[in-house]
Amino acid sequence: MSASYPWQKKQWSQLKHQLSDDKLPHALLLCGPPGLGKVAFARGLAKLLLCTQASESLEACGHCRQCRLFGADTHPDYYQVSREGSAQWILVDQIRALNEFMVLSSQYGHHKVGLILGAETLNRNAANSLLKTLEEPPPGSYALLVSSDPMKLPATVRSRCQRINFNPPSRSDGSAWLAKHIPESDSALLISLCHGQPLTAKAFAKGDLLKTRQSVFAGLNQFIGGGVSGVELAKRWEKIEFIQLLDWLISWLIDSLRLSQNADAGCLDNPDFYPELDGISNRLNIRYLYDILDQMLEYKRLAGTSLNHRLRLEDIVLAWSARCQKQ
Ligand SMILES: [Zn+2]
Repeated sequence: MSASYPWQKKQWSQLKHQLSDDKLPHALLLCGPPGLGKVAFARGLAKLLLCTQASESLEACGHCRQCRLFGADTHPDYYQVSREGSAQWILVDQIRALNEFMVLSSQYGHHKVGLILGAETLNRNAANSLLKTLEEPPPGSYALLVSSDPMKLPATVRSRCQRINFNPPSRSDGSAWLAKHIPESDSALLISLCHGQPLTAKAFAKGDLLKTRQSVFAGLNQFIGGGVSGVELAKRWEKIEFIQLLDWLISWLIDSLRLSQNADAGCLDNPDFYPELDGISNRLNIRYLYDILDQMLEYKRLAGTSLNHRLRLEDIVLAWSARCQKQ
């Protein structure tokens, strides 16, 4: 078994030792920020647990029947659960089905693996139902939970799993990895913008996000300078993914706060916007910056609720304009 990504080596090695000592717990909670390949890690572990011809060094063989079935997503001893469609939560019926799968005997007389993606979205009943499997794991079964926000899981679930933490690699390692995969990208900037998360940065580099980010920032500056109305700005932002927009605004506010406390440009998450962010930090006093930041964080917290998209955008713009006009 080898790590899917170079920054996961420590976690792979830990689990390999536990597995070879026959001490791998029946429930694992893989936690850490997004963009670190936790799902690929979990699937790699599932493949190894199902493989019947794994090497002595614990590599899934890749060609036995189990590996082939797993590769084709048709392995009868593997079950994956995540939110369905546009649902906000993983529902209790999905976990009941997982519980039923876990108690059946393995089709191949080997292990069974249940994987839950986005475990923080288990609703209360679903989480309670999962306790049954976590408390009395059927022999040979493994439950793997993946979460980028584990504190949202009930303590009863967390305490029954061994926690495996994933952290971003150093900025220089992340940047080197990205440069190898997307040579034409500005890897250091992208890694910085994406909080050190290499896979987020890779997705960023492949799409138009960098351009979109620039136009959102230009629009915001125009608005602060009085060159565009709030209604027009909200309209421009309508097509931008809401959480992404908030993440940008929050990140720019945090950088402006850093600058208002005399941080230098090297400490910023958005070093390419240094002069404009410095302008914002001079224009808005610290209290207003914190006020806007609080509101942006609150909008992010409420983002899953079904509020009207346009109205939310107008509220966001209003939060900025209320402070800008006070200056
Ligand atoms: Zn195999």
